This record gives sequence, structure tokens and C-alpha cells, in this order.
Amino acid sequence: MAITAPLVWLDGALVPAADATLPLMGHAPQRGSLVFDVGSFHPTTKGPALFRAREHVARFVNSARIVGLSLAYDEEALVRAAVSVVRECRRDEGLVRWSVFFAAAEPDLLPRDGATRVAVAAQLLQDTGRPKPLRIAVFDDARKASPDVLSPEAKAAASYLGPMIARRRAVASGADDVVLLDRDGDVAEAPIANVFVVRGGTLVTPSLGYVLPGITRDAVLAIARDEGLSVQEAKLSPEALATADEAFLTATSLPIAPVASVNGRALASAPGPITARLVERFEAAQRGAHPSFAHWLTHLG
Ligand code: PMP
Repeated sequence: MAITAPLVWLDGALVPAADATLPLMGHAPQRGSLVFDVGSFHPTTKGPALFRAREHVARFVNSARIVGLSLAYDEEALVRAAVSVVRECRRDEGLVRWSVFFAAAEPDLLPRDGATRVAVAAQLLQDTGRPKPLRIAVFDDARKASPDVLSPEAKAAASYLGPMIARRRAVASGADDVVLLDRDGDVAEAPIANVFVVRGGTLVTPSLGYVLPGITRDAVLAIARDEGLSVQEAKLSPEALATADEAFLTATSLPIAPVASVNGRALASAPGPITARLVERFEAAQRGAHPSFAHWLTHLG
């Protein structure tokens, strides 16, 4: 859980979070068209630093382009806005959330006035520390929306309704989260996380095309290659997930959560040895203590 910091960057100015609102009858709440991205910041020896902020902003800009929301700020300005809210919140760890939405107060499907508003907020975490191993449910009929409906690359609010309903079903069945399948019945991703398994010493994650290009996913792949591990982006069946040596989910908010069980069947270890090594190297990268990945950090300056 995370709580919004007192000051939010809204269209170029820092304002109290309570004033950073959007119209009830507007497009964002009525049609779910708001586009967002979530990054993070962490303590380093040089003070708090944003982790892969440029990649989060680039994905945010791409999501807005897909949905057709114009952005009045360039990538540099959006990174600077994040730096300003992180500096203002006076904490050394948390999330940062970029949002863009139609300014119009009416919910016409195609807004007549395409003007947009942009907000950037720091969010402070209530529970810090490593996530507990997750019990995962997989249902044959809980699928990701097909990419022909809306590109999985767009982080739009509306894309999360199906996954939210699937997670509720998983929780009702006694699990912690759900893994959604693609149109072929293979593993796609969790509602807000990518999926990895370790099988016979090889790290495997579903290829891009049906999943959000997770920035943690990309970082884990880069770290694994740097460690000399064998890595594959490939099709992954639910059976291969359930019988993996190790499995974990990746997301900015986790960032690496071991999978304890799949549909009630326990995996051999959670976290397993390769997962534990990746967690340790990943945390080093976030703290600026991994020499190969120092360029991932944006210091507050
Ligand atoms: N898939 C989906 C659908 C997500 O919402 C997220 C969270 N942004 C992820 C994967 C993980 O992405 P990231 O590692 O960039 O947070």
C-alpha cells in the first residue's frame, strides 16, 4: 500500500494533493482513458535516486501516444517533474506516478476538446521490505485482453478491469494473485507484474507481444545476462509454470516476488537460489551498488 505525498506536480506547478483532482463526469473516470506509469526511488550513498526514470517516462509517452492523449511536456520535463516531487516528499524510498488524462468535463466517447492534464506524484510505501512468497492461481478462462483490442504496451486505466476481476477471483479461492493466459492458453502475465520461471538453470519469461514491457522484467533480464545466466524469452505453458524449479513475479512495486505455489501445488523453493541471487543483484542496482548498472539511476542533483 502507498500514500500520496502532500505535494503533487500538476501541469507544471507543485500543488497540494487534495487540489490535484479530475472531473467526475470526465473521460478518465467514465471511460477509463487515463494513462499512467509508475517508477520508484531508493536510497543510495548519494541520497535518494530514481530507478530507470527515463525508461518509465518513455513508456508513459508511448502509452499516451497509443491512447491518443497529447502530452504538453517532453521526456526531460517529465523526468524533472518526478525529481521535484521526490525531492519535496523528503523520503528516500517510494514510488513516483505519472498520469495524463483528458481535461474535458464531459464523457463524450471522442472528446471534442482533446486538451489534457498531466500529474506527477510521489507515493510513500506503508510496507517496505521484501514481499512474501505468493500463492498463485491460474484459471483456464482468466485471459489477458487480446492485443488486437488494445496494445498491452499501453498502461491505460481501463486495461486493469479484467485483471482486477481475475485477482478478486484468485483471492476468493485462497490465493494471493492470478496469472493470466494468452489466447493460446499460455502464460501471459499477472495483473500488474511479469512472470519468470527457472527451469533446468535457464531463466524463462514470456516474449513481448501479449504483455506489458515491464521495466523490472527488462532489468532482471539484463542482470541475469550480466551474471552469465542462460535466458530465454519464449512461450511458457501453465504446466511449465506449475512444475518450474523456481518462479517469481516482477514489477516496480515488488520488485521481485517469489512464487510459493501454483494452484495449490508448492514449488521446490521460494525464493530459490537463482531468484535469491537476482533479488540481491537487483537491490544492489537500485542502491547504486551494481557497477554495471549505475546509469539506471537519476540522482536528485
Ligand atoms: N504488467 C502489467 C500489466 C503491469 O501493470 C506492470 C506494472 N507496471 C508490470 C507488468 C510490471 O512492469 P514494471 O516492471 O515496469 O513495473
